[in-house]
Amino acid sequence: MGFDRLTGQESVKSRLKDIVAEPSACSLLFEGVEGIGKHLFAKETAKAILCSNRSRSGACGKCPSCKYIDAGTHPDLIEVEPTENRKSIRISDLREIIRDAEVKPQISDFKVLIINADKTMSDCQNLMLKSLEEPSEHIVYILLCSDTSKILRTIMSRVIEIPFREYTDDEMKSILRQNGGEDVDDRKLEFLSVFSSNVPGKALSLLNDPDFLEERDHIFDLVMRMPGLGYTDVLYDEFDYFNKNHDKIDELLLLLIWTLGDIASAIAVRDPQNIKNADKKEDIIRFVSQNSYVTLLNISNAEQAVTDFIEASSVNTSFEPACCNMLLRIHKELRYEKSR
Ligand SMILES: [Zn+2]
Repeated sequence: MGFDRLTGQESVKSRLKDIVAEPSACSLLFEGVEGIGKHLFAKETAKAILCSNRSRSGACGKCPSCKYIDAGTHPDLIEVEPTENRKSIRISDLREIIRDAEVKPQISDFKVLIINADKTMSDCQNLMLKSLEEPSEHIVYILLCSDTSKILRTIMSRVIEIPFREYTDDEMKSILRQNGGEDVDDRKLEFLSVFSSNVPGKALSLLNDPDFLEERDHIFDLVMRMPGLGYTDVLYDEFDYFNKNHDKIDELLLLLIWTLGDIASAIAVRDPQNIKNADKKEDIIRFVSQNSYVTLLNISNAEQAVTDFIEASSVNTSFEPACCNMLLRIHKELRYEKSR
């Protein structure tokens, strides 16, 4: 019930519990990268503030107000996002929303405005500033923000900042398990967490993207197969994969760098602990023992090939020759030659 049903962010929870224990008109700013859980916590905070049996631990979950929140129909909760596929919130929309919010709440003691502050330009921020300077006694503002440097200093000085922190590995696994990952192998969850820098929103979207793990497996297998491939395999089949998935090239290159990095870790120590493809550790150790001619220098050269390709792409080099060149350079470093 209440805040404790959410995983992690203990210091955020404890501050929010203090706030909802004695709610008053105030302006909160939730700060953290996209996908960290700001919106989820904002909804729970709004639910607690609007609940008719609220306690320090949050909303009761049973009163009519809580039911309305769950159904998405609470008249005193207003979420402000850009409308009609706009990139940012339109000032005329925000002006109308704030004017309406100043009218007394309909069923709760307060009105809560959750505003996506990342989507506000300076005109909207100036408008918000006026409301924050002279707040109505029943309005609670919750601003969601991933980059406070884009918010007016005058706004920052009037809000209570609530910073979101990184989740632990265990919290990440628990969040993934609760949201569709209950049957997924533990080490695969670990891989998704690391790949997403422990940002639950990102990890969950990868978990629910059937293509992503397939791509990871493809890139991983490509590196594992590299020693046995011939030039033509690299130039036709392997290039073809990159070409077809051109739109995901950044993701593919990161996966490539990770796999090479994992091989380097396994060359450096017998039982590496920092493998990023956590669920593929045995394959990596086997690769290193079967291809013992591959040295740290080879891996470093292969990684350099990827870095050079990234640099070349940034200056608009033609994709095909640059990508083929990268693949051939990696192949040269990993392939087995009798002369070695
Ligand atoms: Zn309630």
